[in-house]
Amino acid sequence: MFQKTLGCLKCGSNYEVIPPDGVYTEPRAKLDDPPGDFVEMKKECISCKNKNIIYWYKPEIKQ
Ligand SMILES: [Zn+2]
Repeated sequence: MFQKTLGCLKCGSNYEVIPPDGVYTEPRAKLDDPPGDFVEMKKECISCKNKNIIYWYKPEIKQ
């Protein structure tokens, strides 16, 4: 598994998260419509204490 670097939605600071497993590896800040299949994770920003919510999706299969 690989860490992903994301930006805090409030202050823009980068933080690192580890995907919940090897399947849901694509982090998104917003849910799809319809939401579909995802894993939710909360990660507190070190800088501003904002609780970012990360929605992990399965990466789209590119043919
Ligand atoms: Zn922040």
